Amino acid sequence: MTSAMQTLKVLSERRDQVQQKGSSSDAVACDRKSAAGSVSQRACVFCGSRVVLYPIADALHVVHGPVGCAAYTWDIRGALSSGPELHRNSFSTDLRERDIVFGGEKKLEGTLLALIEAQKPNAVFVYSTCIVGVIGDDIDAVCRRVAKMTGLPVLPVHSEGFRGTKKDGYRAACDALFSLITLDHSKAAEGHIRPAVNLLGEFNIAGETWMIRSYYEEMGVDVIACMTGDGRVDDIRRARQAKLNLVQCSGSMTPLAKRLESEFAIPFRRVSYFGLEDTAAALYATADFFQDPKIREKTEALVRREVSRVTPELRAIRSEVRGKRAAVYVGGAFKAMSLIKALAMIGIETVVVGSQTGNRDDYRVLKELTADGAVIVDDSNPIELSSLVQAMKVDLFIGGVKERPIAYKLGVGFCDHNHERKTALAGFEGMLNFAKEVRNSVLSPVWELRRRPFPGS
Ligand code: SF4
Repeated sequence: MTSAMQTLKVLSERRDQVQQKGSSSDAVACDRKSAAGSVSQRACVFCGSRVVLYPIADALHVVHGPVGCAAYTWDIRGALSSGPELHRNSFSTDLRERDIVFGGEKKLEGTLLALIEAQKPNAVFVYSTCIVGVIGDDIDAVCRRVAKMTGLPVLPVHSEGFRGTKKDGYRAACDALFSLITLDHSKAAEGHIRPAVNLLGEFNIAGETWMIRSYYEEMGVDVIACMTGDGRVDDIRRARQAKLNLVQCSGSMTPLAKRLESEFAIPFRRVSYFGLEDTAAALYATADFFQDPKIREKTEALVRREVSRVTPELRAIRSEVRGKRAAVYVGGAFKAMSLIKALAMIGIETVVVGSQTGNRDDYRVLKELTADGAVIVDDSNPIELSSLVQAMKVDLFIGGVKERPIAYKLGVGFCDHNHERKTALAGFEGMLNFAKEVRNSVLSPVWELRRRPFPGS
């Protein structure tokens, strides 16, 4: 086996987080803080919370900290809204030296009251940042006071940047969502008679929430709340009326799903809407849960129609891109699994796969899904990813905004499957969009120009 590992630049303390399939039976090490000096692709705890809660469009999101934290996460997801767009602002208390010395609680309270007056939100999320953790502002007390004064849900998000990994930020966001869901028992108690689900971990980056909702409508299943794509405070407060939670981004939303299961007996299923196979599996899992022959029948008709609609074009694309090699590096490992299958469908082998937040089970499955020699990597960094792309002779890189420059600098195709994408990649139509993006990028003549020596060199 070619040893990509021999030429790979990996920090010694990260050796067990990078593994070539077939070279070891050990589990890929994961679930640990990023190594110092590694310049991890992973963001801080605060950013983890911010990306999860950001798409709730009628809430006020206030970053308690220096303005840099707010600027860093301003409009961080291109999450679309069918109505209000309050979420697209990045409000901050803009803490300065004086606030750090004397405390920022008063400033926070004043900021919240002024913003609530001006923006008329339906709820408020208040994010802690690193410096707030250092100076010890009691944001819980401020939130309680402002909630009492205004009658609004004002929810603290304990997301001090240094508190752990991005995953801890997801947990803090889930805690805030759980508080919102359990805030008002009378709303939660109103029954919903028809079969109904919540979508968890679907962020409506390019309109996917609307596509997925339309599938469920056609099947005869209502979507009570989407957490958090095109999210609304009142829908989230009614989330306990659903009979089933469907968790797409499992890294971010499993803690909430587990809590709703243990405290309110709402079961959950891990699903994915990326690729034909996984989209169909997600819809069938929902139909099977409700055990209603009519829902099952409608689901079968929907899947049959959509698969036969997109398959001819997918076959044509497959004949153009078959044999190419891909690297996949994304936030959540469950998405990476879907991508390996979706790429295989158009004849592309995944030779490098990794995630920012995968766990042991995720990496075991990723190993099973790839061929011998593929490299599996946890919590990577630009140097590692660059050397992997070169060593594994990758033609296409699938990642997010931080992986894009790596691909372009190395002269390989790139497909954005993260926050910044503008094309819907979920569902049946999304699989076709994905295949087109992959083809257009990987076959672009621009990469030939990149490989040509510069004049005079
Ligand atoms: S919370 Fe801390 S690590 Fe995160 S952006 Fe702010 S200063 Fe940076």
